[in-house]
Formats: sequence, C-alpha cells, structure tokens
Amino acid sequence: MTVAPRKFLLALLAGLLPLLTAAAPTTAPTNKRVLIISIDGCRPDLLLRGDTPTLHQLLDEGAYTFWAQTTAVSVTIPSHVSMLTGARPQVHQIEWNHDLPLAHPVYPAVPTLFEVAHNAGYTTGIVAGKSKFDVFLKPGTMDVSWVPSTEVVSNREVLSHVLSVINAGPPQVLMVHLPETDKVGHAVGWATPQYMAALHKADSAIGTILGTLASKQLLENTMIIVTADHGGAGKTHGPDDPRCRNIPWICVGPGVRRGIDLTSIATDRTIRTEDTFATACQFLGIPVDPKLDGRPVLEVMDRSGQELLSDAVPVATPTAAPTAGSTSVAKASAQAKSTAGSAPVAVAVPVKVAKVETPAPASTQPTTAPADANEPASPMATVNGHSTDGQ
Ligand SMILES: [Zn+2]
Repeated sequence: MTVAPRKFLLALLAGLLPLLTAAAPTTAPTNKRVLIISIDGCRPDLLLRGDTPTLHQLLDEGAYTFWAQTTAVSVTIPSHVSMLTGARPQVHQIEWNHDLPLAHPVYPAVPTLFEVAHNAGYTTGIVAGKSKFDVFLKPGTMDVSWVPSTEVVSNREVLSHVLSVINAGPPQVLMVHLPETDKVGHAVGWATPQYMAALHKADSAIGTILGTLASKQLLENTMIIVTADHGGAGKTHGPDDPRCRNIPWICVGPGVRRGIDLTSIATDRTIRTEDTFATACQFLGIPVDPKLDGRPVLEVMDRSGQELLSDAVPVATPTAAPTAGSTSVAKASAQAKSTAGSAPVAVAVPVKVAKVETPAPASTQPTTAPADANEPASPMATVNGHSTDGQ
C-alpha cells in the first residue's frame, strides 16, 4: 500500500504538530543549577562519626538535618523515585525494587524532576551506580545519562562518568548516585569498618565532584543537596525501622543558611525525601503541584525563603577556563565574578573542597565494575540478572 505524497505530508505534519507545540523551551529560564547527590544506604549517625571531611565541610556551609525521613518502604528505587518526584510510592507507582526487562520500560506515574526541569528549559542528567535507575530514563526528559548495564558498579566508576559529564559541560540539573555504601552494608553489615571505609570513599568522591565543578566556576549558582535513599542495620534495610528510615539531608547553595541544623528552627516539620524534589523545583522557579507530598524546605533560606521565591535571573554562560589542582568554591566564585562581569548571582558558596583527584578512566560503555581491592564481591543474589534482595 502506498500513500500519496501530499496526503503523507499532511499526515506527517498532523503528527508532528502536537510534538512541536509541546516542545520544551530551548533556553533555560535561569542560570541556576541543582546537584543532588544520593549516598545509597547512608545512615546519618554513621556519616557523623565517619571520616567524612567533605560532608562535614558542607555542614559548616549549609543547612541540614539528620532526622529527615525516607519513604516507609525504605528501599532504593521507590525511595529514589519519591526523592525525585515529590510523591509517595503509592502515588508515583514505582513500588518494585528490581530490574525490569528492557522491553517493557516502566516510568513513574508522575513527572520526575528531570521531566519538569527539561520542560521548563533546563538541561538535565543523571549518573547512577545501579542498573535499575533506568526507571528515570523516560525518553525526552534527560539530556545526558549514564546508568550501568550491570546490576551495581563501584563509586569509582560512577565518579569517572560524573567527571566525564562535567568535563563535557554538565546539565543544569544533575543527579549523582553513589552505590557502594549500600553494597558493602549488604555484604558485611552497616556500621562495620568496611562500611565506614566505603562511606569515606563516598565522601572523597563528593569532594572530587565539587572540586571539579568549582574549578569550572559552576558552583556559585548551584544548590547542592546531599541525601540518601535509606539507612540500614545488620545486613539489610526495610520498613518500620528508624535506623533505615532516617536519612541525612544537607543543603548548600546561594542564599542557603550556613551551619544551621534545621531541627533548631523547623521543629514543627519533619523533612521528607519528597521535599528534595520540591526544594529543587522552588530553587529553579518551577511550580510544584500542591497535590504532591513534597514541600520546599524554605527554612534553608536566610529570609524565609525569599531567595527561593525570587525572580528568575538571565542565563550567563560560564566564560572562565577550568583550572587544575587544588581549588575552592570561594576562589572559583571570585574568578567567575571577575570574568563574567555582571554575573547575576553574587552569593559565593565558600565550601572548601579537596584537591581534585581524577580516578582511572572507565569505559564509556556500561561495563562490569572494575576490580577494586577494597570492594567486596557483590552481595546480591540474582535470578536472570535481576536482583532478588531488598536493596
Ligand atoms: Zn538503596
């Protein structure tokens, strides 16, 4: 059967028109950036007593609580989807925690942060350490992504891909997932020396990420939220256990209060993982559906959230060349001001970050995690390549 050319053209145009009218703006409404870092299975008390200098520095420079709560189920994928949609699992409908056959992709029932930000004109991206994060890869919502084809990889491999993304010009909304603490927790137990070593490695990875962003003058307009999907006890995690449900929530960025424990000023609210989505949206000037569970944590701001509610600022393209070696966000901010002239956001984020350490390059293709002497064997049983435990 053939179709007449004109008829075919009209049909084609009719099909394209809705796509064209629904297309996302090509220019971001502001020059703001959001970086969300999730340390898989990071229990707050362990973060506090761990060798975590970068995270402790972020506490000094930001607003935080160690009494935030993840979803009631306290497992990886439902909790991360709540973190990045602002909705409870019953609402976003991702209540499973395992890989799905790629032939049948299932995405959250409500828009993710990536989708709303992309539709608003921001660039978006994710680098995650577990294959089941493909739940976020809804077509048309992500500008750059790396999710492994193997079940779980090392922090080192994740970091390598994060640095590749940053060096290529990072998206304005970037989510980074560091999997190794959870992996070690399942293998030998939460709070073990091995777990604490993995937590230190996560801290080092975050230092490298922030240092790299700072060296490119990309932090001064960035809201950073460091959090987790759940904690853990023994070799597992799950519902109805405060050791699993309490998560850290640390926010640093322009206008964010410095060194403030949010429990000292927000005694009538418990910050929940859904609030991460809402706070990021508020910062980016994206309306949050009031029917969602997540609420912006306006308490992080100096003036009752006025910075979060301020008008959008024009986009400013970073002009300074990257610098190498040791750096700090304050130094990077000063450099950006001197080169960008009327850069609209004047609030520096004076986070001191460690010397940038570039890890060994990883393959650009999803591969099995590289051998790492400090890494235990994967604790997860698999059936046809799909995880069968509760990670
Ligand atoms: Zn997890």
